[in-house]
Amino acid sequence: MPGGVIRRREPRGMHDRARGAMLGLAVGDALGAAVEWLHPDQITSRYGGPLRDMAASAMWELGEWTDDTAMAVELASSLADQGGYDEDDVFGRYAVWARSRPKDIGATVAAALRRSRSAAEARATAEAYHLAEGRSAGNGSLMRTVPIAIRYRADPGAIERFSRLDSSLTHHDPLAGDACAWLNLTVAALIQGRALPRSISDVALAAEAAVAADEAELATAAQEQRGYVMTTLRIAFAAAFRHDAFEPAVVYAVNLGGDADTNGAVAGALAGARFGAEAIPQRWLEPLLRKEVVSGLANRLTRS
Ligand SMILES: [Mg+2]
Repeated sequence: MPGGVIRRREPRGMHDRARGAMLGLAVGDALGAAVEWLHPDQITSRYGGPLRDMAASAMWELGEWTDDTAMAVELASSLADQGGYDEDDVFGRYAVWARSRPKDIGATVAAALRRSRSAAEARATAEAYHLAEGRSAGNGSLMRTVPIAIRYRADPGAIERFSRLDSSLTHHDPLAGDACAWLNLTVAALIQGRALPRSISDVALAAEAAVAADEAELATAAQEQRGYVMTTLRIAFAAAFRHDAFEPAVVYAVNLGGDADTNGAVAGALAGARFGAEAIPQRWLEPLLRKEVVSGLANRLTRS
């Protein structure tokens, strides 16, 4: 076929589910931003019930997303521009962003990125931070990792490798990398319309158990283990697989309070990959800032 373009046959609905993962991340992040660090009782007294609509807050404009989506946009831009995962390029973009005085940045991420001049230096700094603090299994790499699932949706080996590599730039604890890999393997299977991955790893079993976990136990974890990577992963799996639509999944995640923007972002990415961008409520997409950038990046990643 002279002059013709050879196209890989893609599963039906794949582009919508890939856009759903990116837009779901941004929407969950922006919705949760208004109630970050609150207790569910405080959310109820402020909004007269669960938060169901985008709201401005003292720190965030209506529809404004936070560091979670900001870092995911850097990662997605790098993957699209470079055609794949290039850790020097990714590190460079994260570092420029971290030094741009963002409105919010996690302590683990800031420690690794603010003064490092290379990916290797960031990793060494992340290790030193881990040793000094005694832990580094925060959710700051999980919150940004989903573009890797979109780019490598047909290559589970690459997903595992690059998810862990990207996480290790800022989070020394391998548990953070395991959580990124498991989220991305699941997101990729959903985007491709494949059967969900199965594993007997601790992270996979914890994510699976969260879907049937006691509501009160997850609600307690959301308050008492805020920012812990497994708390966010478990809430995201409970949100995306206990509900039969995008909206109730994300409403559930953000209304647990605590690290509500990150829990909302990861739940939104997973639910968006499951239900697709078409399932995201228009009233949430309308005020979302820079939504063309977010959805355009998903489109670019599905073309490579
Ligand atoms: Mg945030």
